[in-house]
Amino acid sequence: MSYTEAMTQSLTVKCKLKVPINICQQIDETLDSFADACNQILAVAKAENCWNTTKLHHKVYKPTRESTGLKANHVCQAIRRVINNAKAVKQIHKFRPTSISLDARTFEYKEVAQQVRVTLKSGRVKFDLSIGGYQIGLLKGQKPTSATLSKTRRGDYYISIVVEIPEQPKGKTPKVIGVDLGLRDIASTSTGQSWDGSQLRKTRDRYVRTRASLQSKRTKGAKRLLRRLSGRENRFQQWINHNISKQLVKEAKQLNANIAFEDLTGIRLRTKIRKKTRTEINRWAFYQLRMFTQYKAQIAGINIILVDPRYTSQTCSRCHHIHPVPGKSYRKGKLFKCGNCGFEHDSDINGALNIAQLGGVLVSHPESSVYACDLRGQLLLFPLGMV
Ligand SMILES: [Zn+2]
Repeated sequence: MSYTEAMTQSLTVKCKLKVPINICQQIDETLDSFADACNQILAVAKAENCWNTTKLHHKVYKPTRESTGLKANHVCQAIRRVINNAKAVKQIHKFRPTSISLDARTFEYKEVAQQVRVTLKSGRVKFDLSIGGYQIGLLKGQKPTSATLSKTRRGDYYISIVVEIPEQPKGKTPKVIGVDLGLRDIASTSTGQSWDGSQLRKTRDRYVRTRASLQSKRTKGAKRLLRRLSGRENRFQQWINHNISKQLVKEAKQLNANIAFEDLTGIRLRTKIRKKTRTEINRWAFYQLRMFTQYKAQIAGINIILVDPRYTSQTCSRCHHIHPVPGKSYRKGKLFKCGNCGFEHDSDINGALNIAQLGGVLVSHPESSVYACDLRGQLLLFPLGMV
């Protein structure tokens, strides 16, 4: 194993494919043929008790290509799939037409267009990816050479792309998952997870509209309906927050990490969230999410750390630089692009990374009050304390 290999780890990035209806059949045919090929190859391997890739290749390659009409590399991948599967499960297995393994010859990722090109039985087809900041961040600068195209029971198509990412340094710094709270995405973590707020926002806005029209009526029936609505709205928000907190704590447990939040109490919240109409609702929603997380974290033996939220969204999480012009930011909507070191990332996840770093400093140096300075010599970030 070379030095560079030791410093990276493989990760699978699952991306939804936008598949035009007329292409579905071409994919399905390829999936069917790939499963057929695997089953044929498995039959030969079992009959001849041959589990060596090269030897099996000589026996099955030609007949499988002829009978299935698959491309050369599809058949090679089918052989690998059979051998790897036999090693992994060691039992008789029938392959179903749900996925196909792809390699550098049958698959290509185009970063600029956010597309993949996949070789099907019928030829090379390009697909747009339907992906978010997390996937884009992981795929950035990657030249992946292996992927799996799969079909779900619902009939959606996904491509799982294998990427190599640098392994997290295993130092003395305690692991901390930073959580950035926002309006567009309810929460984003330094580990790259995010929870879309659009569904919650839409539901809320619908309730607000309905409530306004009911309040103007002032009848008994309207009042009753109003009470029922607010209950349902609360339960929906509760349900969302329970889900997010559950996943947060689960991940923290897996990574043996603590969780850091921004301390959004008091005056600091108002600078973070400008829209006044939503302030109260969001203050409550964020507080509830923190409380739910804290409750679950306590049971799991995980610490919750609160950090100062100032500058967390404006600071580059790689070089700790903020825009030298007061009032300006390297943050442009969904994208953070550092003008100092060139670091580019999903802006909420960049914020979460800052929160994680602050949390880490706080755990390892509880006595420290100042964390970093920007080039203007101002205080950048400083931790607050543990819950
Ligand atoms: Zn930077």
